[in-house]
Amino acid sequence: MNAADDKTIVREYFNSTGFDRWKRIYGDGEVNKVQLDIRNGHQQTVDSVIGWLKNDGNLAELSICDAGCGVGSLSIPLATEGAKVYASDISEKMVEEGKQRALETLGNAENPTFAVQDLESLSGSYHTVICLDVLIHYPQEKADEMISHLCSLAQSRIILSFAPKTCALTLLKKIGSFFPGPSKTTRAYLHREADVIKILESNGFAIQRKEFTKTRFYFSRILEATRS
Ligand code: SAM
Repeated sequence: MNAADDKTIVREYFNSTGFDRWKRIYGDGEVNKVQLDIRNGHQQTVDSVIGWLKNDGNLAELSICDAGCGVGSLSIPLATEGAKVYASDISEKMVEEGKQRALETLGNAENPTFAVQDLESLSGSYHTVICLDVLIHYPQEKADEMISHLCSLAQSRIILSFAPKTCALTLLKKIGSFFPGPSKTTRAYLHREADVIKILESNGFAIQRKEFTKTRFYFSRILEATRS
């Protein structure tokens, strides 16, 4: 399968069955046990990133690009803390849901600014570029291009999360219990941490902070890198 096919499949998935599934996982309504586990794991990832940025004490001064923002799980709390957030996603349905949630939570439609856009076509310049749990949909070669493009948009910092390619996860994936459930219709790609770090470094970034979220069905390595 080539990368263009991956992207078309991902877009269609997040505008159809994937939208229904992930809207529920990224919500607070009733879900099954596996989905609840993934919800909790993902929330830990979001909380780790918000924790880092809040600790720095300058969130309200930052412009942030949330690439592949989904339903705004990160963008909305960042905007609540005063950051200026540009939130975009390849899926119209996810963006619509994000807009609605932002309006309900924040009572305005100005910040975050939402847009339907794939991250490869993003332009502009932001203090911090964040991309959580998106790379899992793409093979390493394509992920390298995406990371390089995101680096070109970041004035100072980039934060990425991805499912790390470890022996345990590779095995889990082989036996089919990674991202389980009837709506499992996209491929999940694991990425070697060393490969991700290499591409960040080749774009002039150096790793500052790392975190790892692990629940039963959810695994995510988070890396923060700044321009060196
Ligand atoms: N980052 C969000 C979060 O952590 O809550 C959403 C994560 S969700 C697993 C993956 C998201 O990436 C989906 O909303 C999907 O539509 C989006 N996505 C996938 N490929 C993309 C691309 N090439 N450009 C922009 N968004 C993309």
